[in-house]
Amino acid sequence: MRTVLDRLLDYVSFDTQSSEKSQTHPSTQTQFELARHLAEELAAIGMERIRITPQCYVMAELAATTGCENAPALGWIAHLDTSDAASGRDIKPRLVDYRGGVIELGSGHTLDPNIYPALDHLTGQQLVVTDGSTLLGADDKAGIAEIMTALETVITRRLPHGKLCVAFTPDEEIGEGTQFFDIKEFGADFAYTMDGGEVGGIEYNNFNAAQAELNFTGRSVHPGSAKNVMINALKLAMEFNAMLPSEESPEHTEGTQGFYHLTELSGSVGSARATYIIRDHDATNFERRKAKIEAVAAAINAKYGANSVKLAMKEQYRNMSEVIDRFPFLIEIAERATRQAGVEPHCDPIRGGTDGAMLSLRGLPCPNLGTGGGNYHGEDEFVSVQQMAEATEIIQNIIAEFSQR
Ligand SMILES: [Zn+2]
Repeated sequence: MRTVLDRLLDYVSFDTQSSEKSQTHPSTQTQFELARHLAEELAAIGMERIRITPQCYVMAELAATTGCENAPALGWIAHLDTSDAASGRDIKPRLVDYRGGVIELGSGHTLDPNIYPALDHLTGQQLVVTDGSTLLGADDKAGIAEIMTALETVITRRLPHGKLCVAFTPDEEIGEGTQFFDIKEFGADFAYTMDGGEVGGIEYNNFNAAQAELNFTGRSVHPGSAKNVMINALKLAMEFNAMLPSEESPEHTEGTQGFYHLTELSGSVGSARATYIIRDHDATNFERRKAKIEAVAAAINAKYGANSVKLAMKEQYRNMSEVIDRFPFLIEIAERATRQAGVEPHCDPIRGGTDGAMLSLRGLPCPNLGTGGGNYHGEDEFVSVQQMAEATEIIQNIIAEFSQR
């Protein structure tokens, strides 16, 4: 049987970087190479109904064992693409027995506990690191390796289980991981994503998210004869920004504190454009923030004339806790399964969204579990071999609990 480490090292040899600039689905054709490789492996370990969709979703199933036919169908999801923030080609992973201190990666990159305090928890563990020239791709190939290893263990040991479903998805890193995810076709009643973070992490409390686009219209005249005539659109944008609470921004908030974040500002005297993202875990506060943006835009229009600013607000995703709170056993089972693997569970709020958030709101309740990696989307990415083994055990424990429901 291949170990979870063997599998990770195999999967990261495939360059599966997704691309924001692409118009195709999947965004890069190279993702199909790993998809086909995974489909073959799913067949080899004994999974059934294996298919790859035209958009590069790999799906497979395993029928329930005798006596477990009434257990809910349980899904496992991980993404096969890697971030485009660093190269994902020709990755040269290296194993390090970590004894504390600084790890020299190469190409001027180091893993320094003064910069990454999480390293202090990893003394005594074996880490997989990069050579400093690429990312590692443990995000999210560690998740795939853990799911595959857990499934193989369940099958070869003939452990009891309900119906199991698995999906490896493309284009998560460009925010399109669930765009063509067919929940009905997937066939699960509940699922977990295995995507990132320290093992023991159980994530289901993510941001509510919206984007506000503001187009300011000024009146551009010669500055020499501008008195009482000119309206400078750039200054309208600055005035707008000054009316938002300046402390409620990403650089001043943490935990469950929400924010307004100016992500883009451009323009001239005649016209200007500003984009904000709005984030809040709490649904009421989220509505209050959206109302604040609307009120400030209305105030600008009242002062400078109708249509001085036009606002377009777009909701992006919602906090999956509003769904997961109706199925508390999903979290209770994950917590028990984690403790059973000798790991203390922790449910910290996520300051972002997950594919599971999208799926939960669309009808497939889907918390996220930690895979044992860190420093994603860059050359400093690493994963702990011990934590990958623990995450694999957590998956098996959850499958065992579900078989008895
Ligand atoms: Zn990921």
